[in-house]
Amino acid sequence: MNFKHITIAGSGVLGSQIAFQTAFKGFNVTIYDINDAAIEKAKERIANLEATYFDYFKEEQDAVKTAQSRIQYATNLAEAVAEADLVIEAIPELKEIKESFYTELGKVAPAHTIFASNSSTLLPSQFAEFTGRPEKFLALHFANRIWMNNTGEVMEHPGTSQEVVKDVLQFAAAIGMVPLHIKKEQPGYILNSLLVPLLDAAQLLWGNEVADPYTIDKTWMIATGAPMGPFAIMDVVGLETVYNIVSTKAAKHPNPEQNEFKQIADLVKNEYIDKGKMGMQSGEGFYQY
Ligand code: NAD
Repeated sequence: MNFKHITIAGSGVLGSQIAFQTAFKGFNVTIYDINDAAIEKAKERIANLEATYFDYFKEEQDAVKTAQSRIQYATNLAEAVAEADLVIEAIPELKEIKESFYTELGKVAPAHTIFASNSSTLLPSQFAEFTGRPEKFLALHFANRIWMNNTGEVMEHPGTSQEVVKDVLQFAAAIGMVPLHIKKEQPGYILNSLLVPLLDAAQLLWGNEVADPYTIDKTWMIATGAPMGPFAIMDVVGLETVYNIVSTKAAKHPNPEQNEFKQIADLVKNEYIDKGKMGMQSGEGFYQY
């Protein structure tokens, strides 16, 4: 792996974190976004992240202090990627936006540049052809709050070169992630493939009045030694997101008479969201913080 210049496309929640973490670990970073207003927002996010890092990395104050000096900003894609060894894409989770982004990127990026997508739900094979260089394209998926939740899920598609997989795994480690190789395309990667069924099962036990959230969490924690049960995890995810996911499932349910997901969505809305209990961030969800 001989990466020096990394371009991060999209500077929202995740893009700004990936940019700051990458600069914090000594790489030159260019942040690309669509217009000046988005870049102004990115600068605010980066300043906030600097404060968070000063707090979190007490022993590494110098690296935090110099990180911003390694970050540049651009709204012209060709300029943003002119020197890039790797482009990490963190733009909105919409197929059409990503398709046109990769089509344009494929035209203006240097031939050696590798592209990695941070998409949570779309698969690399959906975009491989648009990049014009499928062998240099894969997914590198981060978790929110990457400085502490430091998984780097590296997922190839059938056309990705093994050399590229190796380089990106090494890069993930170089920026302080734990590199995790996913050898086949898997919707939800490893984490959500495990987590979603657990949260679904917990919600169904609750919705079907088998047990209350605290009993369900206690069972899971005592029996497996896990530090948190599924409802405590939902508090961290945020109940608005939990509601959105369960309502989508309810809308797809074939039988309106026996739609447990609708029941669960109503419970989450009436008992929690409408009462301002949005999860950990609001100070209360299933638990108080
Ligand atoms: P976000 O909405 O916070 O940010 C998206 C950014 O992309 C914005 O700055 C926007 O101006 C910019 N943008 C829009 N169109 C663009 C274009 N054509 N070119 C360049 N930039 C463009 O989104 P986010 O939450 O940071 O998510 C970004 C990606 O990361 C998604 O694919 C998402 O699935 C993935 N992801 C998100 C999380 C999360 O917890 N938020 C976690 C892991 C992965």
